[in-house]
Order: sequence, then structure tokens, then C-alpha cells
Amino acid sequence: MEDRVHAAISDGSRLGIMGGTFDPIHYGHLVAAETARTEFRLDNVLFIPTGIPPHKVSRHIADAELRYTMVELAIKDNANFKVSRIEIKRQGPSYTSVTLRELHHIFPEQELFFITGADALKDILTWRDADEIIRTTNIIGATRPGYDASGFLEELYVRFPFAQSKIFQMEIPALAISSTDIHFRLENNKSIRYLLPEEVRSFIMNNNIYRDK
Ligand code: ATP
Ligand code: MG
Repeated sequence: MEDRVHAAISDGSRLGIMGGTFDPIHYGHLVAAETARTEFRLDNVLFIPTGIPPHKVSRHIADAELRYTMVELAIKDNANFKVSRIEIKRQGPSYTSVTLRELHHIFPEQELFFITGADALKDILTWRDADEIIRTTNIIGATRPGYDASGFLEELYVRFPFAQSKIFQMEIPALAISSTDIHFRLENNKSIRYLLPEEVRSFIMNNNIYRDK
């Protein structure tokens, strides 16, 4: 399975990486990935659901295989979107630097573009091996309501001048959708329809994924 995904991707030369907890995946993630794909002429975007997210140990997180299945359902109508178990299969916390190192190894010919929302971009200096990530991988920061990364980026460029040629900002239509808000709505018996693909919504409902958690 994983080999088939890798084989399909190895045709291209520019690969987008969309990492996330995807608990659940929603239209914010999909719009960011699709905008990056078209604006940066990416051949494919690989969605990578995290194993155990290092920063989200407090909240209950749905089983990795369920989050993987939800991503699969959400992307199946886009031939250039793929999903990988690379982080799910790993023991212990998933560090982006380790994943990117592995991807550079699997796809040595490809240029990698890590896609992230402005909130996550602002934390980049706290990521393990931040300088290695910025040196080896292009980073595409998507706008996200409530987060402005421009001030932060100026600070970052003072510290890492080489980052100026590696970090790109991308405007996407403002979608104040988050997985946290979807959890909140489910807890309060509010509708989550139209915030995420309908198939993902029915999968959540039919399997009671977020009930009584
Ligand atoms: P949570 O509320 O649990 O933090 P989330 O909605 O932020 O969930 P994540 O899985 O944490 O989803 O996000 C994965 C990536 O997608 C991150 O880089 C995040 O910034 C980005 N992202 C999530 N939602 C949006 C959105 N509405 N617009 C732009 N980027 C987004
Ligand atoms: Mg988040």
C-alpha cells in the first residue's frame, strides 16, 4: 500500500507535504493543500496524519487509523492528493524533522514543500531541528484567521537569513474552521455539516468517533 503511494508520487518533481493531526480533517486543510498545489505547481500533495502529536497530549485524540481513514475519504476525488502512514507507523512522538529526513531519503530527486497554517508557522522556531528543516525544505505558510505571521517572519529572517528564500506565504480564502471547533460543535449538539466533506461527516456519525470522549 505504502509502496504504491510512493511509486505514484515518484513520477513528479515537486512534492507538497501536508502534516496534521487531522482529528478530523476539514475544508481548511483541503483548501490549503489545493491552493498550494496549484500556486506552487506541485505534482502531488502527501497528507501525513501524525502518530502521537508532541504538542497535543492533553486532549483525547481519535485513533490514528480512524484519522487516516477520514483523510482517505476526504481526498479520494483529487488524483494529486495522497495519504501516508509514515508517522502513524513510527513509535513515539512524530517530529516533522524526522519525517522530512525520511521523505528526502525516499524521494531524493524531488523538491519538498511543507505546507502549514500561519499558527503552526509561528511556532517553527520551537520545532526540533528548525534550522535543518528550513535549509532542506521549502515551507509554504497559509493564512489563517486570527494569525498574522509577518512580524514573526521578520524576526526569523534576522536569525536565519537563509530562510528568506525558503519560506513562502500564501493567501487562502479565510476559513475559520478548526478541528477544535468541530469537537466543540459535536459536544454541544451543533451541526458540523459543510465544514468538512460529507463522507467524513457521515463516517464520524456512523462510527460515533467523538462521542463521550
Ligand atoms: P486543532 O484545532 O486540533 O489544532 P486544526 O484545525 O488546527 O486542529 P491540525 O490538524 O492541527 O488542524 O492542522 C494541520 C495543519 O493545517 C496546520 O498546519 C494548521 O495550521 C493547518 N490548518 C488547519 N486549519 C486551517 C485553516 N482553517 N486554514 C488554514 N490552515 C489550517
Ligand atoms: Mg492546530
